[in-house]
Amino acid sequence: MKQILLALKLNLRKLILISTILSVSGLFVVSVFILNYIIKEQLIQNSLAVNEKYAAKVATSANNQFGDMLKELNYSATLLGHNFSDQRLVDAEVKRLKNQSDKFNSVLVIDDKNRLIDFKPEQLNLRKDSIYKTVGIVEALKQKKTYISSPFWSIKHHLIVMISQPIYDIDQHYLGLISGSIYLQQKNLINEMLSTEYDFKKSYMYVIDQNNRIIFHPDTQRIGEKISHNNGVTYMMQQNAGQIKLINSQGVKNLAGFAQIPSVGWIVVSQQPTEELLKQANTIILKAAVGMFIFYFFIFFIFFIVWRLSRFISAPLNSLAKMASMLNQPDIQEKITQIDPWYFEVTKFRTSLLLSSKAFSDKITELHYHVNTDPLTGLYNRRGMQLLLKELINLKRDFTVLSIDIDFFKKVNDNFGHDQGDKVLKVLAGLMKDNFREHDVCCRVGGEEFIVLMTTSELEIAQRAAERLRKAMQTTHINSMPPVTISIGMAFWPKDSSDVNEVFKKADKKLYQAKNSGRNCVRY
Ligand code: GH3
Ligand code: MG
Ligand code: MG
Repeated sequence: MKQILLALKLNLRKLILISTILSVSGLFVVSVFILNYIIKEQLIQNSLAVNEKYAAKVATSANNQFGDMLKELNYSATLLGHNFSDQRLVDAEVKRLKNQSDKFNSVLVIDDKNRLIDFKPEQLNLRKDSIYKTVGIVEALKQKKTYISSPFWSIKHHLIVMISQPIYDIDQHYLGLISGSIYLQQKNLINEMLSTEYDFKKSYMYVIDQNNRIIFHPDTQRIGEKISHNNGVTYMMQQNAGQIKLINSQGVKNLAGFAQIPSVGWIVVSQQPTEELLKQANTIILKAAVGMFIFYFFIFFIFFIVWRLSRFISAPLNSLAKMASMLNQPDIQEKITQIDPWYFEVTKFRTSLLLSSKAFSDKITELHYHVNTDPLTGLYNRRGMQLLLKELINLKRDFTVLSIDIDFFKKVNDNFGHDQGDKVLKVLAGLMKDNFREHDVCCRVGGEEFIVLMTTSELEIAQRAAERLRKAMQTTHINSMPPVTISIGMAFWPKDSSDVNEVFKKADKKLYQAKNSGRNCVRY
């Protein structure tokens, strides 16, 4: 993971860009999810409410119709109860009920012994005075009261629902019944009323009776069928009206509204397959997502411009930051000055960097001085000498090595004390500085041992300078001490050897010779 991050060469700007891309995309995805949820939920709620309203409306108008039917039958039943034996009256009443409206497909009058007294229409071709024992007739006679059957097959093979009222005489003796039938599979009042061309997004309506039998269904094959695998039927039977998400007998999810027709106890269900509804939602969501995508893209575009701008803004700060890590470079101050401070923060940063680079270079110089210089005499120490020696060799500048040693220095210390000894060292150093040129390198490399690198290879010049120093030392009076002398050995690079070490060794050897020749002299 870390390696991947390193490979990406992340910097602050890239990190900001990446995190912005991630958050904008995240926001987009979350928005689409939320939108998807809200739209679908809203459509579902709407569909449930619309179905509930619709079912209620249909149930109310059906209830009115059935109320009328029961009233009409009841009216005739009362009338016939008074004159049940008047065949003409019976015939007239049956005819009137059948033909006055399209409410009933057929009308029958049956006496309490299951005998058919009268019927309409004539096409039924039933036989008056015969005994008829269909399910509806048997049950209605048994109950002796208002009766509405479940769908059943009539003798003439019609799937019917029978609605009947009992006929009682003035003394409340039960005489029989008058019934109106609805042929469920033919044009009838219920399907006239329900099969309005209502087919929005595969919505449909059906009616079931209290025994879960289908009274009406757009698929006529299913009329009369008993519903078994519909998980909502029990709930709908318990409630008078409401809405429900149900799975129908075919296993299809539906959003349904339902309402009871109180006069007959049937349930009107108006429902819409959930999937059909959500197909519509997907189109809406897609359109909205495209819209949102454009919106987010626009935001991202703005951000991208800001991002590019930030590069422009941060560029001078970046360069300054880079320079802050290179304060030891010689031309850094000049480089810092070249940065164009076009806004306040850069000016501030630049100024403080310039200040600290100045302080830094001063510090470095000071450190260099301390590291390479002998504190007592202010001459270069051995380390300083090595640095300058390297310079001379790189520049291929010929030079002469003067190896200088104070004669009998031990005695100076012994006779006059260490402080006086130090004084002698300082005086000699001063003489050296005066005696040699600026480009010559004067060093104290040991206790009372000195080296001068003269930037010349000419013997005569070197010899003259060495003699001059020797004489100067000899003639200088230090406090009340007798004169202190020095011995000098010389060697030449590259004349004596191209190997610098050999040249130094030779200078030492020559110094040794000077000491052996009585001191206070120069040898080469
Ligand atoms: P020679 O002529 O043979 O060079 O005799 P010398 O006495 O100078 O010989 P030697 O090298 O034996 O003595 C060097 C002395 O220098 C020893 C030490 O006491 C003294 N010395 C070395 N460093 C310092 C210093 O920093 N200050 C003082 N005062 N004396 C020093
Ligand atoms: Mg010595
Ligand atoms: Mg000495």
